[in-house]
Amino acid sequence: LEKAYSFMIRIRVPGGVATSQQWIETDRLATEFANGTIKLTTRQAFQFHGIIKTNLKRTIKEINQAAMDTIAACGDVNRNVMCNPNPYLSSVHAEVLKAAQDISTHLTPATRAYHEIWLDGEKIETSEKEEQEPIYGKTYLPRKFKITIAVPPSNDVDIFANCLSFIAIVENGKLVGYNVAVGGGMGSTHGNEATYPRLADVIGFCTAEQVVDVAEKVVLVQRDFGDRTDRKHSRFKYTVDDRGPEWILAKLNEYLGYELGPVRPYEFKDNGDRFGWVEDEFGNFHYTLFVEGGRVLDTPAYPMRKGLLEIAKIHDGDFRLTANQNLIIANISAKKRSEIEALLEKYGMHHSHERSALRLASIACVALPTCGLALAEAERYLPEVVTELEDELEKAGLRHDSITIRMTGCPNGCGRPFISEIGFVGRGPDRYNLYLGGGHAGQRLSKLYRQDIHSSEIRALLAPIFERYAKERVDGEHFGDFVIRAGYVAATQQGSDFHKN
Ligand code: SF4
Repeated sequence: LEKAYSFMIRIRVPGGVATSQQWIETDRLATEFANGTIKLTTRQAFQFHGIIKTNLKRTIKEINQAAMDTIAACGDVNRNVMCNPNPYLSSVHAEVLKAAQDISTHLTPATRAYHEIWLDGEKIETSEKEEQEPIYGKTYLPRKFKITIAVPPSNDVDIFANCLSFIAIVENGKLVGYNVAVGGGMGSTHGNEATYPRLADVIGFCTAEQVVDVAEKVVLVQRDFGDRTDRKHSRFKYTVDDRGPEWILAKLNEYLGYELGPVRPYEFKDNGDRFGWVEDEFGNFHYTLFVEGGRVLDTPAYPMRKGLLEIAKIHDGDFRLTANQNLIIANISAKKRSEIEALLEKYGMHHSHERSALRLASIACVALPTCGLALAEAERYLPEVVTELEDELEKAGLRHDSITIRMTGCPNGCGRPFISEIGFVGRGPDRYNLYLGGGHAGQRLSKLYRQDIHSSEIRALLAPIFERYAKERVDGEHFGDFVIRAGYVAATQQGSDFHKN
């Protein structure tokens, strides 16, 4: 008799866009095969937890029947391509979303093995040459690879935390191309200073037509020059750090056969979501729902999953997963708005955006009990931490001030804790490293403030800082900037000085 092994399945959602029918199917699969919940991840994907081994194949088959897949949602290849989910910037967003989907399709492994193993695809005899991946070759990439696209001023996909990012440049209301950013990444290992999070460098500009080609060639540079001897040093950020962004640009130009242009001006204002109702230029409506920890589930007090299923049944637009683990019920036609509003109210979702600004800016990775790498709680514990901190913020008069706060169960950093203004990274049961000073728009790494603290110390450590921030901040100063100016932590300029005090 075999043990009841259980698995996690991650469904790829390029650009974070799912149709109503896909939502309905995702909900059904969560009930039939998973633990009755849907996790919206920090990379705009769906995750199911608790899939019993004997149901694995059937679940993957049914995911594919719902016109979704799990190909390259893991592995040493390009992962889910992320994109700003802001449909209220409709015309530009539609182009950018298409670019994200085109890059995703282009970089999906060509292998038929997935279909043979999971979908009962027929085994086709192939020659050794045919078996080679056109982009990944025989040996694939040294490690996973992550791509994002953002439309300023919103950096909600955290472009500086990804291997390769494109920053949309819009001039006179038209998309003219993208700045290219390389070498970001979050993961590190406790006690190993050779590992560190790193911000991407913005190295050049490409036209909208060149974007897929540039993505491919950057992947090829990493394929050919990434470190294959040490897995802890094999992410693209280390290739960029070791060789320098100038070398990467020169090699990229060589692979492209043309040169990237000079970086164009851009400005990010924040990396959060815009909650509540928005109307776009075409008269469609969009409602951004706060989903704490990205977990869509039903509780007696808050039957959110049921409510979203009822909405999906009548919704004539689509659903957009945000990189902050929230959900946009998007492209609601004017004639459907009142029906959807009534359902939001019926299921208690219409007030979701009235939470404190701290809670709305929170991210937690899965961590315990589902992630095998977790050293501490995150998704199940961060809401409690936020509740305690809300009391302190209320006393300081800061309830409506957005401060980004993120917690992960280990330093792999799936919730991007090293670029938040307050970051907790698990070290062991109930123990965390506390990081401060990340940029409010995700443009600066944080710095270790206290190592290995017990969870019971968090409130007492942060309360006096909030108090001083409320009294001493200068006009418009964000919390992450204040803690540096006030001397709590030094500013981290780049990954290589992340461990220096
Ligand atoms: Fe990622 Fe670590 Fe969180 Fe697991 S515990 S989800 S590996 S950050």
